[in-house]
Amino acid sequence: MSLPQTPYKYSLTQPLYDWHPWNMKWILFFGALIGSGICDRETFSGHQVFRINVRNGDEISKLNRLVNSDNLKLNLWKSPPALGHPTDVLVPSVSLQEVKSFLEDHDLEYSVAVEDLQTILDAEKQEMQHNVHQELSSNCFNYGAYHTLEAIHKEMDNIVKYYPRLVSTVTIGHSFENRSMYVLKFSTGEGRQRPALWLNAGIHAREWVSPATAIWTARKIACDYGKDAIITSTLKKMDIFVLPVANPDGYVYTHTHNRLWRKTRSVNPGSTCIGTDPNRNWNSSFGGVGSIADPCSEVYHGPYPHSEVEVKSVADFIKKHGNFKCFIDLHSFSQMVLYPYGYTATKAQDADELDMVARNTAKALAMLSGTQYRVGSIFSITYAASGSTVDWAYDNGIKYAFSFELRDTGDYGFALPASQIIPTAQETWLGLKTIIEHVRDNI
Ligand SMILES: [Zn+2]
Repeated sequence: MSLPQTPYKYSLTQPLYDWHPWNMKWILFFGALIGSGICDRETFSGHQVFRINVRNGDEISKLNRLVNSDNLKLNLWKSPPALGHPTDVLVPSVSLQEVKSFLEDHDLEYSVAVEDLQTILDAEKQEMQHNVHQELSSNCFNYGAYHTLEAIHKEMDNIVKYYPRLVSTVTIGHSFENRSMYVLKFSTGEGRQRPALWLNAGIHAREWVSPATAIWTARKIACDYGKDAIITSTLKKMDIFVLPVANPDGYVYTHTHNRLWRKTRSVNPGSTCIGTDPNRNWNSSFGGVGSIADPCSEVYHGPYPHSEVEVKSVADFIKKHGNFKCFIDLHSFSQMVLYPYGYTATKAQDADELDMVARNTAKALAMLSGTQYRVGSIFSITYAASGSTVDWAYDNGIKYAFSFELRDTGDYGFALPASQIIPTAQETWLGLKTIIEHVRDNI
């Protein structure tokens, strides 16, 4: 098949401005939305991220007591405490004194990783505003910036427009608030259920670098087909599906109300708390260790497996398709390549092979700028997590199931500056290609 013609020149190594004929009205509208500030947007002035070290079991239980204290309203940013690795905890300004006193009284080591979260978020917001103006004047999508859901979906259409013989869109369902679950399909073999790879991103709303990396990756796949031997040969044999925003309601909510929202936005009957953790909602050891039955928890597993329509849409699509060989889920942050299981310490049947692929992935990723990723099963190097995406994929016959925790290790955490999007996407691409090549050769 001949290659789609590229009508313009661009580079995926710099903030990318691609021309396309956007309707100015929507850019102005979203610019105004970002600029005006939504009236009830949550602010984080004076909120700090504490990095806490625990040295023994006694300190772990003290820290657990602190983190689980309802009145302090702490928000766990990174892993529950594990020996040898610090935990990052967001502390609201009103709780700072009390938390400091607790840590000092109990002789727990800590440092302040983020001095004032709102300062970082203000800079992020300003950069987005600036970018909207840039895009407005240049009619270009800047791959080095964060975008609204609408802008991402528009750019997906744009990719299809320029690569119509390779790429198409599929709407696999709608979110709780009726937004499209919008997927890009890359295929060179029309009409057949070829072996396929699923790239999932943005299932946790606040992890903005995940959708940004996914849309960059989608563009890169389209761009490299016919030029890069691994991508070209893979697409001769397999289809690739990319879902850049797997939790669209949550993602929109992080733009309009609360930048740190993680869950879906579904209503929980009998509770005033909203949302379910979609990465605990899959039908794989549902409701087990590492998930919580309280709707107010950040890791609430939901009332039943696949209760979240966003999760059900992906699960149904994949099951109906029946020939997925690889599932990759992009999260942030912590810099890790993970594989099943999350719900048990028992090794997965293919653990040795998955570990080898994950190690090669981390090695390839580090080659660009030395970024170090840790590797292991979810359970062994992070924490117990039942009902997770990749466990479901693996338990449903998708052997090559991996989860990435992208940059960084906590200096910015979920508020990773936009200037790191392209470096993150570029190095991740080297890792993804390692997996893709292995899958291509082993199915
Ligand atoms: Zn996540």
